[in-house]
Amino acid sequence: MSMSEELNKLRAQIDEVNGELLTLLSRRAELTKQIGDVKVAQGVNRFDPVRERDMLDMIVASNPGPFDNDTIRHLFKQIFKASLDLQQQDHQKVLLVSRKRQPEDTVVAIGDTVVGAGEKTIVAGPCSVETEEQVMKVAQSLSEQGVSLLRGGAFKPRTSPYDFQGLGETGLAILRRAADAYGLKVISEIVNPSDMEMAARYVDVVQIGARNMQNFELLKAAGDLNLPVFLKRGMSATVEEFLFAAEYIVSRGNSQVILCERGIRTYEKWTRNTLDISAVPLLKQESHLPVFVDITHSIGRRDIQIPIAKAALAAGADGLMLEVHPDPAVALSDANQQIDIPQFESFMDQMYSSGLVQREDK
Ligand code: PEP
Ligand code: MN
Repeated sequence: MSMSEELNKLRAQIDEVNGELLTLLSRRAELTKQIGDVKVAQGVNRFDPVRERDMLDMIVASNPGPFDNDTIRHLFKQIFKASLDLQQQDHQKVLLVSRKRQPEDTVVAIGDTVVGAGEKTIVAGPCSVETEEQVMKVAQSLSEQGVSLLRGGAFKPRTSPYDFQGLGETGLAILRRAADAYGLKVISEIVNPSDMEMAARYVDVVQIGARNMQNFELLKAAGDLNLPVFLKRGMSATVEEFLFAAEYIVSRGNSQVILCERGIRTYEKWTRNTLDISAVPLLKQESHLPVFVDITHSIGRRDIQIPIAKAALAAGADGLMLEVHPDPAVALSDANQQIDIPQFESFMDQMYSSGLVQREDK
């Protein structure tokens, strides 16, 4: 037999053994999947280090060579790990907010305003509700600009307890009156689960703020509501944690959730937060829920709002949130970042003229 004939014969044998190994590995994988199902049914942890150790000891004890024991251990550990991964994939719960569960986009209707169906939606209004006159002025401007969602904080989660905490229910009532006077819808932050029912008398959308993204009792209360929820990303939350927070709401039966990227904490000081633009396409890809970008809190400055708004919409955002105040210099919160009414008008002009946003009342 020539050298090359011999090589071919040996290679043919290797191919055969590979085939046998594959058959055995697949048989083993099927068994581990069945074990995984049994463990889930019993509520037992899938990873069992003692059982792994026993198996390795047994295998090594009957190792005929030529591989040394360490190599055999290493090879089998790889097989164990692959099996565990397989069990985990099998039982990883596919989230309700995930596109794997629902490929088509969730569309949230807020009165006549349809969010998440292709048209871009603007939410605007003051950081805090301060006076009826203040909110009326902003509401009038919104209606002139063809913007139908009025925001304003009545319960303000302030960093310092000595800062203005908001007008509470009185603030919600002001928002409602201003919205009704100009045919708008109200979105406002609620910070206490026990206020949800009261809030539902005034608001059309409940906002959950960044600081409360993982306030699980609040999320559950929002999940029990029959109103859309505007959920902001926590300032130190990963995209995955953000989606789990949304899952808290959706899993209670409220599927009307809008996600809002509002910037995350980084070392950068020239912006208040760092707008995580990559979160927008990631969230759109991973979830069927509408995604907004808060262009005010994410950057905390007025001079780059237009390019940031364009970037957000180009990245696939369904809408934008921004703060507008008749006289930002005297605002009781976020005085440095709110824009005044002429600036808002010019902002909207640019959004419309660029074709990025369509007038709602066109
Ligand atoms: C707000 O939108 O009023 C607000 C407080 O923003 P955030 O929760 O994103 O800080
Ligand atoms: Mn604010």
